[in-house]
Amino acid sequence: MSKHLTHTKDLNKEEILQIFSMAREYLDEKKREDLKGKLIINIFFENSTRTRSSFEIAAKRLSADVVNLDVAKSSTSKGETLFDTAANLDAMGPDAIIVRHHRSGVPKILSKYVRASIINAGDGAHQHPTQGLLDLFTLIEVFGDLEGKKIAIVGDIRNSRVANSDIELLTRFKAKVLLVGPPHFLPKTPLPKTYSLKEAIEFADAIISLRTQTERHKHPTFASLKDYAQNFKITKELIKDKNIYIMHPGPVHRNIDIDDEVLADKRSLVLRQVKNGVAVRMAILKHLIREQ
Ligand code: ASP
Repeated sequence: MSKHLTHTKDLNKEEILQIFSMAREYLDEKKREDLKGKLIINIFFENSTRTRSSFEIAAKRLSADVVNLDVAKSSTSKGETLFDTAANLDAMGPDAIIVRHHRSGVPKILSKYVRASIINAGDGAHQHPTQGLLDLFTLIEVFGDLEGKKIAIVGDIRNSRVANSDIELLTRFKAKVLLVGPPHFLPKTPLPKTYSLKEAIEFADAIISLRTQTERHKHPTFASLKDYAQNFKITKELIKDKNIYIMHPGPVHRNIDIDDEVLADKRSLVLRQVKNGVAVRMAILKHLIREQ
């Protein structure tokens, strides 16, 4: 049993199912005392709206103390190395340090230097394990068993850490995954791929749409987001009355990734993902922070 969560593979299937059953209990809880007296540090070197607040709410609902480190004001901006910052934070005795960093691999490396549990809140284009887990939880909520369920992932898959975490988990839970996007957004993998959103919609029981990760493009790889939208925006016109669920990790490029009508449709699980995210993160914190 790993003390850290830097990659979805740190958790085996049994642990994931245990976390999900705990998360189900936490879904409608406002306040518990499970982590009373525990200290959690959030350190985000990259922007975040949902993940950071979701972790903070999760920790507070379990009565942990939470410190949010404002990186712009921290010593890293005065030239302290990341490792010294982490070692200093660790010396203050946190039970978990939640890290987001623009470089792939940072949480994994930090986990070797600290006593606290390291939780990866997104590292470069590599992994976003808690997003992957909350996506998996949401899909299991609507489908029950995922074996044979058809899930299409649409967009900038090559640059998406969410896609990496989703693909690892979905394939492990035996869903059929189809990757959809323009050729330069598709990674090299043996998984089935298509350039046609229409074909993907015909195939899928659920679609996970992704934001174009322009911050990770060294050269603009598509003429414009509007051009991307022409071929890959999920619209009401395309999904019609099909029995299909629509997901997105956020932030959504509204009317580029998904149109207004689909976002407001009952088949959109986007806000349910956010709600589930708090419960799943509560369960992850509880699972990783064990009695010492
Ligand atoms: N919020 C997700 C992430 O941090 C997805 C995105 O930014 O597009 O990776």
